[in-house]
Amino acid sequence: MDGAALAARLREELKAEVDGFGHVGLATVLVGDDPASAIYIRNKHRAADEVGIEALDKRLPASTPEDELVELVRELNDDDGVDGILVQTPLPEHIDEGLVMRTIDPVKDVDGLSPFSAGQLYLGRQTLVPATPLGVMRLLDEYRVPIAGQRAVVVGRSSLVGKPVALLLLQANATVTLCHSRTQDLARQTLDADILVAAVGHPGLITADMVKQGGAVVDVGITRTEAGLAGDVDAGVADVAAFLTPVPGGVGPMTIVEMLGNALRAARYRAGALAFPRT
Ligand code: NAP
Repeated sequence: MDGAALAARLREELKAEVDGFGHVGLATVLVGDDPASAIYIRNKHRAADEVGIEALDKRLPASTPEDELVELVRELNDDDGVDGILVQTPLPEHIDEGLVMRTIDPVKDVDGLSPFSAGQLYLGRQTLVPATPLGVMRLLDEYRVPIAGQRAVVVGRSSLVGKPVALLLLQANATVTLCHSRTQDLARQTLDADILVAAVGHPGLITADMVKQGGAVVDVGITRTEAGLAGDVDAGVADVAAFLTPVPGGVGPMTIVEMLGNALRAARYRAGALAFPRT
């Protein structure tokens, strides 16, 4: 499943939608100098430029006190030119990530990590959903992988990827199993999967003998190794699976375009073009 090609097409479509809508503003906040995070931010800005979304690049030193970051998020909440706010994680250890996510106005929460956004997804009334899970679902849809009634296994239970992807698969009527580091005999679970999503960060964890013949495998994992970027899925899986996403060029580019799609969605909510559920 070619995420790079699909993402390129979706960026074209998004550019036309942004043109038609008018101004869309995104603010990214990067705290500290983690090199991987800096690359993610750079890629997000490049893609935002390409589709005509105005992106503000806010950077703070790693030593920034928590209350200063919270204050910045509040300012961005109040800034009418900003439709979407993205605070890059991980944050430095002295900052409470939960507090920062709770501070983001849910209508601008393009990463879908605020309790409101996560709760809406849990309830099946999604507003803004994390971009990586959206990208996974869009890839499955593009390649017409059947979901309803199928057995889906998700390996990894983070709030950013594993849990939301499991909820989206459940909403699409798959029978979902969620695995994690305490799962015993992982292969016993994965071998039954018509759809297997790996979001762990252990290169090569999923080997061919763990995959159902003819299944669809989505490799979310990205680990920087000396040989380059590596996914969670071993190359041998290509001989068993009917569908497989490459790393790089699979879920990564989809994540960026879906985040930009969330920024447009946020702008539509704020303009009243889409109804946002307020209490
Ligand atoms: P995370 O927060 O570290 O979560 C990893 C999950 O994997 C945890 O739930 C952990 O279980 C589970 N796990 C660890 N070892 C395991 C094992 N041996 N067997 C089964 N489960 C195991 O990571 P994340 O943020 O979800 O990211 C996962 C991977 O996806 C990383 O490589 C990350 O770089 C990548 N990623 C890619 C994109 C993209 O755009 N392609 C976006 C986001 C993340 P416990 O909960 O029990 O600890």
